[in-house]
Order: sequence, then structure tokens, then C-alpha cells
Amino acid sequence: PRTLGILGGGQLAQMLALAALPLGVRVRVLEPDPEAPARLCAEHLCAPYTDPVGLDTLAGCDAVTLEFENVPVEALDALRGRVPVRPGAGLLARSKHRAHEKRALREVGAGTAPFVAIETQGDLVGALAEVGGQGLLKTAELGYDGKGQARVTSEGELRRAWDDLGRVPCVLEGFVTFTREVSLAVARTAAGELAFGPLVENVHRGGILRTSVFPARSPQGTEARARDLARRVAEGWGLEGLITLEFFELPNGDLLVNEVAPRVHNSGHLTQDGGGVSQFEAQVRAVLGLPLSDWRPLLPCAMVNYVGVTGPGGEAQEPDWEGIDALPGTHVHLYHKGGGAGRKLGHVNLVAPDKQALRERLTALEARIP
Ligand code: ATP
Ligand code: MG
Ligand code: MG
Repeated sequence: PRTLGILGGGQLAQMLALAALPLGVRVRVLEPDPEAPARLCAEHLCAPYTDPVGLDTLAGCDAVTLEFENVPVEALDALRGRVPVRPGAGLLARSKHRAHEKRALREVGAGTAPFVAIETQGDLVGALAEVGGQGLLKTAELGYDGKGQARVTSEGELRRAWDDLGRVPCVLEGFVTFTREVSLAVARTAAGELAFGPLVENVHRGGILRTSVFPARSPQGTEARARDLARRVAEGWGLEGLITLEFFELPNGDLLVNEVAPRVHNSGHLTQDGGGVSQFEAQVRAVLGLPLSDWRPLLPCAMVNYVGVTGPGGEAQEPDWEGIDALPGTHVHLYHKGGGAGRKLGHVNLVAPDKQALRERLTALEARIP
């Protein structure tokens, strides 16, 4: 059987492994956390990402992919020439650093929010005015789920925010007034063939994705624009494998790229139950060079994240799983992760025969997930 190596063993690796098995593909993950979600359905090499023995074992796979951008580029460098790594070190280096990413997006003609790279105290001077007077200060690296970000509306707030973030390299982004957020994934094989995922509409709460819906309610032409931008990035950055683009849709219909994930994405989980090929199967196929075509749900579908929440006394608040299970069209996915407020612990996918039924079911589902 073929073997796929994955750097990272979180829930994305778990779901990649679940999609790989029926294709005759075994999965091996290199992941330092002994309790990581993928341990239950993949061979788990429990070691740091740069561990030489772990990397030797990954080098014996047919190909290696990523489920996490906060893997050191050195791990990919150590695999170079020994096994195909898809996406590769160059693409990872761009997507893990917000300033490099935005510059590389502009190079291929993709618009981004206005931004100023902040590396020294002096870079703060005039930065807020340059991005339009209000913005978000984000750490250049390691942020996810809105962590490592602060909203700033004055020079004083900007200085305090930079102190609070530890004066590490940051990016100050102008605040974008968007109509909605959408995302789209693109896969590219080593032979240069492209395939696209669906355009999905996303709603965030407190910087964390709450709900995704397919189809997006964007005006005609938006999906074609999103695909064109995804193609520019995939070809311009030399993608092998799968990436996901997050967009801000503007009132005039234009799309700005918020960020690029070098992997499957939380907003694509609804493809697991929408009746078509899932994003996880698409990534496995793209990385291993198996036949691949556009993947798109066959039915209207949605996803609601289950994020750990604690009650007033600090106790974990569980959703009413039996009630959720009993709603028509729901599919519960749990990650077998240790709890903790603000951590993604699972998601619920929802399908319906038409868009109106989907909206009704979604209202009922959201009410049951705190
Ligand atoms: P993740 O990687 O989990 O998607 P992240 O920590 O990298 O999250 P971002 O995607 O940068 O965070 O931001 C999280 C959310 O905050 C965005 O999806 C959007 O809702 C809001 N946001 C981020 N940047 C801006 C901006 N410049 N203007 C307006 N809203 C923004
Ligand atoms: Mg991000
Ligand atoms: Mg994001």
C-alpha cells in the first residue's frame, strides 16, 4: 500500500487519515503531542518536527504533506531530495509569515488589506495613518484562531498592543469593511493540473470560525474571481498539493485575500457530508498524484464549529449531543482532544435538500451549540 506522511497530527491530520484509508493509503504523522487527535487513526511518530529519526521515517513514505503551517521550514529542508514534500518549503515559508505572504500575494496580482510590517519601535510611527486610521495588529508568525491579534484605533493603542504582543515582528493591517467572508481551496498536482473546491461563506465570532455555508450568498461572478486569484497563487507560488484562500468580499464585489493556509481548512469541513468528494480526499489525491477533479458538495450544506466553552464556575459546557444528533441532516465529528476554553474540539456538518431547509436547520443547530 501507499503511505502518506503528514507533518502535524491535529484534527486535520486525523481527517486526512480517515479520507486516505479507503483509497488504500496508510498515514504516518510526525507530531510531538502524545495526545494529538491523529494518534487514533494513523501511525504516530511522537517526536519534535525536526527529529532526525522521525524525519527518516517520513522520508520512507510515498509523499509528505502538511496539516499545520507552524512547522519549522527546517523540517521540510531536511526532507528535500528524499521524498516529495507537497506543498514545499518555499510555499510554507511564504504562508507562515503574514508580511511575506502579503508581498507574495501582491506579486501575483492578488489584492490584500493595506499593511505595514512592524519590526522596530520606529516602524510604529505613522503606521496607523498609513493603513487608514484603524486596524489590526497581528503577530507575523504563529497566530491562529484570532490569537496574537489586537484591534487598534489610535497610536497609543497601537503602542500598547505591540508591547502586549511582546514586541515580536508584527503586521499592522488596515481594518477592512467587508460584505462577507468567503474561502476557496485549490489543488495542483506535480504535473500542473488544477482543481478547485467550492466557494464557501464564513462567519467568525471572536476571531474563531463559527459557521460555514455552501453555497455562499455572493453575487454572480464572485466564484470565478476567487478561482482566478487561487489559480494565480497556485501557479505563481509553484503549488504542489492543496491550499485554501480566505477572502474579504467588498461592497463593490472585489475580493481581497486575507490569508492563505497551506492545507485543508476548517471552512472546507462541510465537504465531508455534502455528497461530493471531501477536501481531505482532494488533498490526499493531489499530494499522491491520483486522478483529481473539482470537488464540490452536491447538496446545500453547512458546518458549525464546536469550540470549548466554560460556564460561570469554570466547568466545561457540553452541547446537547443527543438533541443535535436527532436534528435532520446533522453529522457530528469529534476530535478526541483534551478540553479547554477556546479550543476547537469538533464540528457538526449539516445537509439539506434545498437552501431554505438548510437555513432553517442551521438556526436550530446553532441554537444547540454554545
Ligand atoms: P485562522 O488562521 O484560524 O483563520 P488567524 O488567527 O490567522 O485565524 P485571521 O484570519 O487573520 O486570523 O483573522 C481572523 C478573523 O478576524 C478574520 O476571519 C476576520 O473575520 C477578522 N479580520 C482579520 N483581519 C481583518 C481585517 N484586516 N479587517 C477586518 N477584519 C479582519
Ligand atoms: Mg491564519
Ligand atoms: Mg484566518
